[in-house]
Amino acid sequence: MNRIVIVGAGECGARAAFALREKGHEGDITLIGAEPHLPYERPPLSKEGLAGQLEPKFVADAERYQAAGIQVLTDTPVETIDRDAKTVRLADGRQLSYDRLLLTTGARPRSLPGLSETSPLIRMLRTHTDAAAIRSKLAPGKVLAIIGGGFIGLELAATARKLGADVVLLEGLPRVLSRGVPEEIATVVAARHRLEGVDIRCNTKIAGIAEREEKVQIELADGEILVADLVVVGIGAVPNAALAEAAGLAIDNGIAVDKTLCTSDPDIFAAGDCCSYPLGHYGGRRIRLEAWRNAQEQGTLAAANLLGAAETIASVPWFWSDQYDLTLQIAGLADGAVMTVQRDLGDGAFILFHLDPSGRLISASGIGTGNAIARDIRLAEMLIATGKRLDPQALGSIDIKLKALLAA
Ligand SMILES: Cc1cc2nc3c(=O)[nH]c(=O)nc-3n(C[C@H](O)[C@H](O)[C@H](O)COP(=O)(O)OP(=O)(O)OC[C@H]3O[C@@H](n4cnc5c(N)ncnc54)[C@H](O)[C@@H]3O)c2cc1C
Repeated sequence: MNRIVIVGAGECGARAAFALREKGHEGDITLIGAEPHLPYERPPLSKEGLAGQLEPKFVADAERYQAAGIQVLTDTPVETIDRDAKTVRLADGRQLSYDRLLLTTGARPRSLPGLSETSPLIRMLRTHTDAAAIRSKLAPGKVLAIIGGGFIGLELAATARKLGADVVLLEGLPRVLSRGVPEEIATVVAARHRLEGVDIRCNTKIAGIAEREEKVQIELADGEILVADLVVVGIGAVPNAALAEAAGLAIDNGIAVDKTLCTSDPDIFAAGDCCSYPLGHYGGRRIRLEAWRNAQEQGTLAAANLLGAAETIASVPWFWSDQYDLTLQIAGLADGAVMTVQRDLGDGAFILFHLDPSGRLISASGIGTGNAIARDIRLAEMLIATGKRLDPQALGSIDIKLKALLAA
């Protein structure tokens, strides 16, 4: 197996390329990306990176790729995969052959039907280019309207306030963070945003959006008209699976892979935001994550399995978000929980433990300033992985260390 091609030069593709070398692959590695930059970290794009110098935070510099013998092609979308010939065709007409192929094509923001996708005043946030365009419009006195009260919208709201812009955030549902975040935590987040001056409006329906004289007018269903200098739509992401689908690979909420990240073609693997996979800890249920650590871990696992290791996905889903000095973390998946126990850590920080009907911990979510919850969430992750039945009272008691529960 000499030649490995990776399509998608983001977090996952870059990690996979380095991991292939670390695991001893001596053949060619080509990492192909559609963006003009070397792979970079996306999380700073809505956080400190947007507030600061807005330089991409690269996963590695050009010298490191060179030293590892990884050929990186930027600004080069892959247009088709020919599975019989085992080649990929690039937008510039070139064809590259592969022995094994890894798809790490990520996700793209979900667009709001009917909205211009080319207007400089109506944007989405996924790439460094998007962040630079948004940053150029954020300043004291400018009004930013954010559509969607998910993580990206809320992180952007916090950063925009830091930069002095006025922020109105429009959410169609009764609360922010309604997907996968317990209400108790969403309430803390929303209260903090309001304290910082963000005008959060839930249950808000948008009747129309129009551009007028370098401004955007948003008409709400109740007839109110909001005027903004910039609108950012943050209503979730969809997997980039069209390339795989056109090649005839199985698709199910993204590129469908098995527990080793192998697609329906034994020579093609997929990893990161673009794929859905069966999650062992949750009865093999198929999920797709959009999370930084998952992209890293799956990149490394895909590398091992491209080389024939057949290792299976074992990690517990984990996600974090930073807004102001608050950090929120979620481990595991809470749906299916029948009991929630709260553990107060002091200074307003707390963790919620979610247990299934058999008393097993299936998820933990927490919020606090700085590192207040990090250690306990890490331990909760390990407790989830053990699948042990746990005493809810012990989980809720600050006097009983989670480490002790793990050791018991
Ligand atoms: C603003 C922002 C903030 C975030 N914050 C957090 C956070 O706080 N915590 C957290 O856990 N996660 C966060 N995430 C999510 C995290 O960044 C993603 O889960 C991670 O980047 C996924 O990596 P990936 O490599 O799978 O996909 P991506 O990073 O999307 O990379 C995929 C790459 O493939 C390229 N590509 C697609 N199709 C082709 C093609 N046909 N040919 C060539 N190239 C192609 C794309 O252009 C892209 O560069 C955030 C994401 C964003 C956008």
